[in-house]
Amino acid sequence: MIRTFRAPGRVNLIGEHTDYNQGLVLPMALDLATFVESAPNNTASVFVHSEHYKESREWPVDAIPQLEPVGDWGDYVAGVARELVRAGYRIEPRRLFIRSTVPEGAGLSSSAALEISCALALSFDQSVPPLELAKIGQRAEVEFVGLPCGIMDQYVSVFGREGTALMIDCLNLERQYVALPSGVSILAVNSMVKHSLARSAYRDRTEECAEAARCLGVRSLRDVSLTAFEVAAPAMPEAARNRARHVIEENERVRRFAVSNDPVELGRLLVESHRSLQHLYEVSCEELDFLVDAALEIDGVHGARVTGGGFGGCTINLVREGCEAGFTEAIQSAYRRRFGISPAVYRCVAAAGAGEIAPV
Ligand code: ADP
Ligand code: MG
Repeated sequence: MIRTFRAPGRVNLIGEHTDYNQGLVLPMALDLATFVESAPNNTASVFVHSEHYKESREWPVDAIPQLEPVGDWGDYVAGVARELVRAGYRIEPRRLFIRSTVPEGAGLSSSAALEISCALALSFDQSVPPLELAKIGQRAEVEFVGLPCGIMDQYVSVFGREGTALMIDCLNLERQYVALPSGVSILAVNSMVKHSLARSAYRDRTEECAEAARCLGVRSLRDVSLTAFEVAAPAMPEAARNRARHVIEENERVRRFAVSNDPVELGRLLVESHRSLQHLYEVSCEELDFLVDAALEIDGVHGARVTGGGFGGCTINLVREGCEAGFTEAIQSAYRRRFGISPAVYRCVAAAGAGEIAPV
């Protein structure tokens, strides 16, 4: 029997580069998602086909515990399979067919959507506990694919809930559902670029934050208050000081965002977050800064910022209801004029977390 599993992409409203610093994040799961159809296979292997890449991969079930990365999209699936086996789950020969509506490399987490949908499809009758599912996806990305990411993307892909955002405390993995502000729409604008700096910078930032924590004598940047930081800041190396200030102040912005329903204040927090990522954390780029600056000139825009890791991908924009079409038209033509590229615009709708889709 063919079964279908779905896992959503996500957009992070605020709390950027805080997850791997044990901080706060506020993402929501999207109605853009990855779907995996799973059918029995008559050879003793897992066969997987990506509609997007029009490519297939196949691994004998027996070989899964020893799989090693080869550097392509199949690694995400192989990594999930290996982590499932290592966690004690059984994998049966299946044929997986992957299709997705999450744009790739745009900061809307097509990677977590792929990991979680495949983890569900490969473990289908074994009911992996949701938190373990998220951790298996994260381990696949960190230990197999080799990207040191936090838990946010996989966590919200699993625990997202229709119509609400989700505040995650990455220190203890507690979650709190947060109502979305009324009277506004959230629109993501895809810069359509992804600079190669993204991966190395992610690693550099991880190390710089660890160094900042060492300077401050704490385990992670979560353990230091703004007041204690201000006392120690003058003696810190500049890069460590700037990275730490971003993380500490960004956690505070998440707290304020979660309790506000005032679009003007929410918009201001988004812009503050962007400026901090631009100047202190230094993960923005010319295209993203342009999209934010141009958005702030458009009627009905309360605020905008980069979302996701940076160096490309998407901005999110808080736009007054009724102004969406005008915003889309204005931002697209401004970006086209400046960079000659037409940016895709997505209306972000908060959708449910991952699960099986009932057969029709
Ligand atoms: P993001 O998560 O922001 O979209 P990443 O670079 O983390 O960007 O993940 C993108 C990678 O995930 C792609 O390069 C590809 O390897 C894999 N991927 C995403 N969607 C698919 C898909 N539908 N089929 C195969 N691989 C995919
Ligand atoms: Mg990703």
